[in-house]
Amino acid sequence: MKKIVCAALAAALLLPASAFFGCEKKEARSRYEIDAVYRDGVLSAEMGFTFVNHTGETLSCLKFNLFGNAYREDSVYAPVSPSVRAEAYYAGESGGEMTVEAVGPCAAWEVCGADENILRVDLEEPVGAGGTVSLSLRYELKLANVEHRTGVGRHAVNLGNFYPVLCVWEEGGFYECEYYSDGDPFYSACADYAVTLRADASYTAAASGRILSAEADGRDTVYEMELENARDFAIVLGSGFSVAMGEACGAQVMYYYYDDEAPEKMLAALTDSLTYFSETFGKYPYPTYSAVQTGFAVGGMEYPALVMIGDRFEGAEARYIAVHETAHQWWYAAVGSNQLEHAWMDEGLAEYSAALYYREHPGDASFAQRVSAAENAYKALYSVHAQIFGKADTSMDKKLGEFLSEYQYVVLSYDKGVLLFDAVREAVGEKKFFAGLRRYYKDYAGKIASPSSLAESFARAGAKAGGIIASFTDGTAVI
Ligand SMILES: [Zn+2]
Repeated sequence: MKKIVCAALAAALLLPASAFFGCEKKEARSRYEIDAVYRDGVLSAEMGFTFVNHTGETLSCLKFNLFGNAYREDSVYAPVSPSVRAEAYYAGESGGEMTVEAVGPCAAWEVCGADENILRVDLEEPVGAGGTVSLSLRYELKLANVEHRTGVGRHAVNLGNFYPVLCVWEEGGFYECEYYSDGDPFYSACADYAVTLRADASYTAAASGRILSAEADGRDTVYEMELENARDFAIVLGSGFSVAMGEACGAQVMYYYYDDEAPEKMLAALTDSLTYFSETFGKYPYPTYSAVQTGFAVGGMEYPALVMIGDRFEGAEARYIAVHETAHQWWYAAVGSNQLEHAWMDEGLAEYSAALYYREHPGDASFAQRVSAAENAYKALYSVHAQIFGKADTSMDKKLGEFLSEYQYVVLSYDKGVLLFDAVREAVGEKKFFAGLRRYYKDYAGKIASPSSLAESFARAGAKAGGIIASFTDGTAVI
């Protein structure tokens, strides 16, 4: 996500689908097959899920995140931060929910978790390491009238996190995601997707995957979509949308918009940044890339091969958001990380990658301006916290929800993230810095990286960055 913090808040404190990740032998992956109908604010779906057990352990149950339940009016974890709540709920308070109706075959299932955010499925038979198990689920997602990741907006229906998402197996258990309003509370492994969606023909669909077909059927259009080796899948259904189309590094690039005086400039920002990041970090991994102008109150939101650009932003600001979200295709979509525990890993690197883009494509912003803005934001936070608390806690590896404020989350994850990567670049030099990031992408595309993975990839490229990364993240670095 590209989080835009308002000043007041800060002051207050059709190509082959198999072009993935080089020429690696295709590994068996878990697979989602979703058949959904969207009608009047409700998505009704059947989901087939085949789990391929790469955990190395024998499992007797599976757990899924039900992100749609964060949108219940009485949810414990509200999905929208108070700073933008009034704008996001444009028509007043509104609630949604995800209701699981059937799961099988299985021994038992239940919806649990602190916020009804987890579906636990007890398997009929344990699935051993390397084994597979298939489930069928039926569920209904009622959408709130909210301009956020999942909701009915004024111009489009955002279908982010619209299906039960398998939790990541980590250190002996499934990692359960709570829906914190600060940050992107998502953490998932790569899988393959086949999605069929029926929706009113008045909509235009933008999707994470390739749209294989869009067939008229009475009042509806039926879309068939697919995506391989991706850690999420999202769709936006827009009303009155136009599409600007381009091409970059072998991918089709689409910009869906309903109100943009200069769509060609946005398309150029998308294709130029996709090309720059591809040439700098490694090849863009998907056959298509779509950006959608839609209701999203806090900037933009990234999904694999699809990004949402908040429609309250325009011109250079909207394009900056687009460049940041494009960088997430490398840092989040391809190289995964636990965004609840280490938000700086993808946000800091996406923000710094955007700054690097402006070194080569100055105009809307400049590299020096982005780095100095990050430094000023960090120093302001440090000064304010030192005055209030006697000392400033600038450690970055806090879990979402442990930051003192949205302001602290943004400054430490984004701005201090920029300073961290700039310090690494200054210390190891340009050549080793970019070799390190290329190595990081090569090592972890399609996988999940930890903070130590990042340091190890730099080390494998001959760049000693571990000390800098550790001192920034633990808060001991003097900036
Ligand atoms: Zn972001």
